[in-house]
Amino acid sequence: MAKGDAAQWRVEPGTKVHLGKIDTRSTDGAPGGKASTEAAMDELLHDLQGLQERLYADGGQSLLVVLQAIDAGGKDGTIKHVFRGLNPAGCRVVSFKVPSEEERNHDFLWRVHAKAPAKGEVVVFNRSHYEDVLVVRVHDIVPDDVWRPRYEFINDFEANLAASGTRIVKLYLHISKEEQAERFRARLDDPSKQWKFRKGDLDERAKWDDYVAAFEEAITRTSTDCAPWYVVPADRKWYRNWAVSRILIETLEDMDPQYPPAEDLTGVVIT
Ligand code: ADP
Repeated sequence: MAKGDAAQWRVEPGTKVHLGKIDTRSTDGAPGGKASTEAAMDELLHDLQGLQERLYADGGQSLLVVLQAIDAGGKDGTIKHVFRGLNPAGCRVVSFKVPSEEERNHDFLWRVHAKAPAKGEVVVFNRSHYEDVLVVRVHDIVPDDVWRPRYEFINDFEANLAASGTRIVKLYLHISKEEQAERFRARLDDPSKQWKFRKGDLDERAKWDDYVAAFEEAITRTSTDCAPWYVVPADRKWYRNWAVSRILIETLEDMDPQYPPAEDLTGVVIT
């Protein structure tokens, strides 16, 4: 495995994840420090754009990117910086909030399945069905015997998507508790960011260890060959953006979408 390969961050199916052992400030594999890594991004975003265009033209496969993190983990920043070059015609971001009454009246995958990518599309899930084994577990929203079987339901659901041509990449943006405090302070201090801060964020922060335990179990139980998890060190935003771009490019290259063959154009003259 070379440095900067997606395998560097992939959780191999069957291995137990210990988030405490993964350095949130890692810059492992980056082409250099902040300046040179940011400079390398232009080329990566260009490659990503080209691959997305081919995926769209090919129309036979799709890509689902699942983004999960603890609050202030950088989901919004990742979407803004990594997906900004994609053609909006073939790319959608779907944010999952507290389920509506209608959504609660269905099984937990109902609202998620409805938003899964169609062939040719890239879809980014900003939060996802994993909330149903994360926040739901931490806050005891449903009993144990309801959320526990969901790991298997999730694996079956994702296997079904994969079997119908959807590649699934699941990204856990890994920040430290100190970094979260820094980001919350930055939100409080900056009037243009205060809207992102809710007092309830501090109640969630107090449950940090419960969230870590919930993430560790979810990642361990649902990193599969057809839908692997990647743990991306995310204290340094420039490293996070670079690593996520590398993972997506490698995935799309492996999917190898092709432009459809042109019609026979011999003799065609534009007058
Ligand atoms: P974000 O924090 O992603 O930027 P919001 O501040 O609107 O967006 O938060 C969305 C909220 O919805 C989060 O607190 C999240 O835990 C909650 N949520 C998402 N899915 C579920 C779910 N299935 N059950 C309960 N709460 C959920």
